[in-house]
Amino acid sequence: MAKKRTKTKTALKTRASAKSAARKTASSRRGAASDKPSTRRASAVKYVYSFGDGKADGNRSMKDLLGGKGAGLAEMTNAGLPVPPGFTVTTEACNLYHANRRTLPAAVDDEMLERLSRLERTASASFGSVTRPLLLSVRSGAKFSMPGMMDTILNLGLNDATVGALGRQTGNGRFAFDSYRRFIQMFGNVVLEIPREAFEEQLEAVKQEYGVTLDTELGEGALRELVGKYKELVLLKTGAGFPEEPLAQLRLARDAVFRSWNNPRAIEYRRIYDIPDDIGTAVNMQLMVFGNTGDRSATGVGFTRNPATGAKEFYGEFLVNAQGEDVVAGIRTPQPIRELERLMPAAYRQLRRITSRLERHYKDVQDFEFTIQDERLFMLQTRNGKRTGYAAIRIATDLVNERLVNIKEALLMIDAGALSQLLAPIFDPDAWAQIPVAARGLPASPGAASGQVVFTAEDAVRWTGKGHRVVLVRKETVPDDIHGMYVAEGVLTATGGMTSHAAVVGRQMGKPSVVGAAAIQIDEVTKQLRMGDHVLAEGDALSLDGLTGEVKLGEVASQPSEILRVVTGELKPTDSDIYQRFSRVMKWADRVRRLGVRANADQPDQAKIAYELGARGIGLCRTEHMFFGEGRIPIVQRMILAETESDRRKALKELLPLQREDFYGVFKAMRGEPVTIRTIDPPLHEFLPKREELLVEIARLEATKSRSPALAKKRTLLQRVEQLHEFNPMLGHRGVRLGISYPEITEMQTRAIMEAAVKLAKEGVTVIPEIMIPLVSDVRELRDQKTVVDRVAKMVMAEQGVTVSYLVGTMIEVPRAAVTADAIAEAADFFSFGTNDLTQMVFGFSRDDAAKFLKQYQARKIIERDPFASLDVTGVGALVEMGVRLGRKAKPGLKLGICGEHGGDPASIRFFDRVGLDYVSASPYRVPVARLAAAQAALEAERGDSDTDN
Ligand code: PEP
Ligand code: MG
Repeated sequence: MAKKRTKTKTALKTRASAKSAARKTASSRRGAASDKPSTRRASAVKYVYSFGDGKADGNRSMKDLLGGKGAGLAEMTNAGLPVPPGFTVTTEACNLYHANRRTLPAAVDDEMLERLSRLERTASASFGSVTRPLLLSVRSGAKFSMPGMMDTILNLGLNDATVGALGRQTGNGRFAFDSYRRFIQMFGNVVLEIPREAFEEQLEAVKQEYGVTLDTELGEGALRELVGKYKELVLLKTGAGFPEEPLAQLRLARDAVFRSWNNPRAIEYRRIYDIPDDIGTAVNMQLMVFGNTGDRSATGVGFTRNPATGAKEFYGEFLVNAQGEDVVAGIRTPQPIRELERLMPAAYRQLRRITSRLERHYKDVQDFEFTIQDERLFMLQTRNGKRTGYAAIRIATDLVNERLVNIKEALLMIDAGALSQLLAPIFDPDAWAQIPVAARGLPASPGAASGQVVFTAEDAVRWTGKGHRVVLVRKETVPDDIHGMYVAEGVLTATGGMTSHAAVVGRQMGKPSVVGAAAIQIDEVTKQLRMGDHVLAEGDALSLDGLTGEVKLGEVASQPSEILRVVTGELKPTDSDIYQRFSRVMKWADRVRRLGVRANADQPDQAKIAYELGARGIGLCRTEHMFFGEGRIPIVQRMILAETESDRRKALKELLPLQREDFYGVFKAMRGEPVTIRTIDPPLHEFLPKREELLVEIARLEATKSRSPALAKKRTLLQRVEQLHEFNPMLGHRGVRLGISYPEITEMQTRAIMEAAVKLAKEGVTVIPEIMIPLVSDVRELRDQKTVVDRVAKMVMAEQGVTVSYLVGTMIEVPRAAVTADAIAEAADFFSFGTNDLTQMVFGFSRDDAAKFLKQYQARKIIERDPFASLDVTGVGALVEMGVRLGRKAKPGLKLGICGEHGGDPASIRFFDRVGLDYVSASPYRVPVARLAAAQAALEAERGDSDTDN
């Protein structure tokens, strides 16, 4: 692949001379001597890279050093495109600036001055000249684009003397003073840290004085007056005059851009998008070209294809007589780019030609910026455009059809995580944007949900029974809310993290969920939800977006995803273009991936959807979820409350046929693919009512019906609830420990599994059940349960006269299990890493409570990512690796999978591919994400880490 890239570089290098190409290669080596060895100082490191006049020191492969913008400008210059000349101060200088307590060594300054002189020669203009003043734009540019997060200053070099020269030079005094006032405003805000509003106030005052509404209506006199007012403001706020000296302006602007790397919004942006903090930003200093010289000038931004839909259409907007900031700031409404064709046809045609060429060169959609000065076009930026998941699929398939990229390249250009957008219901984007955000939480399960607020699972069922659409709002959700979650449009909780119950179940159901919205207050007794100043009662309308974590008041229209409508048979595949493209991409992914992909599902309908979405097997069927099915909870409670083993067996006998039917349904939906069924895992108290609720009911009965038999029952129940109470239930009587205390539960579950498998075998469908024991920390626990499983399985097969193969394995989710995996492997046919519990136990972070402080940890850089969402490779990953190594050492053919939530996270999947697991298991709606991420992991491994030029 590296070879291919080199080839395309040459393709665009049409006008670059062989000499400049050779120099480019030499100077792109870090620390290599520059092209001006005789004038270079002792410093071996080069901090400033020039571009202009058809040649550049840098090129597209130098994003680390020059940032995306700097590398793009260099590449476009080398290709002979109309790029205003300039130079880039490297990211390395930025890092040095921060490391040296916001100072730069003189060497950087010297080098910058040297490049500046060169630029002055190229531009035939000089800093401070009163005949031909050099004016620059100063713009940030990190390796990864961070739109609008850092600062920009335009028209640098203007002062009281040069403004006159600019006016004379252009014969346009108005334009000169408009540029000057913009410069003072930007410099004042970015460098001198004077609030933007202070300048806006002055601008408004002058507009009022002159009786105009638009900036463009202010004449030269008014703008001159405004400049005077701005300067007074600077004096007032800083106690010093506005810096008139262009070199001083330049140094101050450069340093301010470096500082903007650490402004709060840039930090937050990096956190959200996982961009490292230590890579720094470059600064690009470039000759100004002006889109604001009059009606023959303009500035704009655009995409070579539509970034929202992926349609192959030239897309963008521009403003006549404006500077770049006006387009993005939204002060004036820009015009669609098609209009440019009418207004300035030659420039438009040239722009189309250049951008198509750039798209072919970069083999991807380009997001570009341009300025037209007096009908002359200049390119200011090009980069790969950001896009929605929907657009990503369309663009990738189109580019393959157009033979611009091959299948492997197409797979690598789609953000795997963004695929979940394709399955989620969506809000009407315009309607959504009009409503303010009322609260925010963790975006636990993507999708749009709107409905009336209800506060309990029972109410959710009742209200939906009457035809309402509801949003279930809970402080937290517990397993017995599952029926309410099932019927609700979406779920909102005040507590809980990405692997909290609500989040796990929400994803599994494909239910839009926002969890851990710490700022909301819920009173479940009075049924009120407080969000800031708003108080919502039962029945009030609420909407949430599980993709962004935003919660808003009122109902907003949404629609189910088209792909899901095909999957569920509502729409024919041939009627859905996006489905066909999606399924084509998925087939490509399946061809290259090494990891198998299964689903976590415990209901036949979930299993069916998972299969349709490409899961080939179930990696985790949480049997306890089945206990919450309709009418089952009373039986489960009877089992728990039983005083004797024989009473317990009676209740289990009632559960047996129900579980058998569940397993039969799941096996059938998986059409013979492997199904891993886990024996009961959660602590038993989760199946009983809450202690506080019982106390209230008992008090009520004591006051009203003190002799009722119901009261006696409730008291017994309370007693048992109190007996089962645990201080640390997640570390308490759960998992294999339950099976050891109550082997009859394991017996019933094994019987149900085996009877279901036998029934299917009789119908001609072969299934190989994989029976999995949770929370094992010692091989003897596993042996104990395996004995029970084998005994019952043998019994069922003898009774039915049918032999069915089955496996017995264990989860590796307790650190001790990973450390003793060799011993455990002796008794296991397979391991499945339970990275939810493993993360909980390795960090000692409670899965259900950690969200509270993890946010703070992330803000303080103690951890980078939520380890429950993306695997902590260093710690938890080390244990997974150890488990793999020891397990396979003891048993080379040991089957290895992972069924924690990380099975649907692309970064974690890369790790699982690397350590050689056989499969990952993800919630049904994450299956496509896992398929693509697994393919990307395999391709990246094939390509090796050496070629990171992308
Ligand atoms: C796990 O711990 O990773 C796991 C899959 O089990 P659960 O989430 O049900 O505890
Ligand atoms: Mg677990």
